[in-house]
Amino acid sequence: MQKTQFFSWLVSGRPSFHLPALKLLLESMFLSVDPYMRPYSQRIMKEGDIMIGTQVARIVESKNPAFTVGAFVVADRGWRTHFISDGKGLQLLLSSWPESLPKSLALGTVGMPGLTAYFGLLEVCKMKPGETVLVNAAAGTVGSVVGQLAKIGGCKVVGCAGSDDKVAYLKKIGFDEVFNYKTVKSLDEVLHKASPDGYDCFFDNVGGEFASVAINQMKKYGRIAVCGAISQYNDSVPQKGPYMQMPMIYKELQMEGFLVTRWNSRREEGLQALLKWVVEGKVKCHEQVTEGFENMPMAFIGMLKGETLGKAVVKV
Ligand code: NDP
Repeated sequence: MQKTQFFSWLVSGRPSFHLPALKLLLESMFLSVDPYMRPYSQRIMKEGDIMIGTQVARIVESKNPAFTVGAFVVADRGWRTHFISDGKGLQLLLSSWPESLPKSLALGTVGMPGLTAYFGLLEVCKMKPGETVLVNAAAGTVGSVVGQLAKIGGCKVVGCAGSDDKVAYLKKIGFDEVFNYKTVKSLDEVLHKASPDGYDCFFDNVGGEFASVAINQMKKYGRIAVCGAISQYNDSVPQKGPYMQMPMIYKELQMEGFLVTRWNSRREEGLQALLKWVVEGKVKCHEQVTEGFENMPMAFIGMLKGETLGKAVVKV
């Protein structure tokens, strides 16, 4: 579509082009800003590429009988207000999605980050009732779901976050022990005090120094899910060390990195479970919504700097 045609349609409200057969025209309602965009854009994208990302979009015109106008989908089409699709790769919002529930949650708790928490905790940490779970970046999207699912699963949960407001929020949603990692004198001491017997599961969103300290506090046969390394996403030179072999050996730990896409075939199962817990009020969600497509960069940078509580989304 020509740019001028597109703008004339936006102004007039009438399409001035012909949508080809089997194609859809969609408008983004909400766009997600996520940590993975930082290392991805640094390492893989070239100047001039459209920034990668996910949106909740509404179908505004359809020449594809499989998709009806007005339906909402989750798409992976980057930072765009509108796009044309042949329908491939679009995920319709769950049919059981309640009208009263914000559709933006499909980018957070009931979307990819929620699934990351769900599969990381169940399949990588192999959490069991009665165990103690440690999670960092706990007031973020993945971390807050990890903590709440661990509570549903009958575990004790220790979390950390980067501000006192975030600490207060985590206590409110049921975390057992929470601390502000930016103000503690000794991370080692605070982790020990929060769980003197150590940790069975460590869900690591941060990596770097936090992970090096936490690994020494694991119980024997503990499991570590290496989900993210946000403390390193800005590094132009890879950090050296720490060298974790000794605690890995003498505590017989399991440490496993994962990508949520490993469980794509079980996506529906995970989303249904998360949606049910959200609707029942067992999993609480907090969103920080920035208004306006032009504010995408500001929302993205703010999320990386820790200015966001819960999921950062942009309302287009
Ligand atoms: P969040 O909503 O948690 O946002 C990022 C948070 O990370 C910030 O709010 C900030 O909180 C914290 N943070 C930023 N810099 C640092 C730092 N240097 N040290 C410690 N904390 C920091 O993001 P998500 O929940 O979307 O993602 C969490 C992690 O999970 C990320 O590492 C991400 O890359 C990873 N991830 C991995 C997936 C996978 O398939 N493996 C899929 C999805 C996400 P604070 O104020 O507490 O510092």
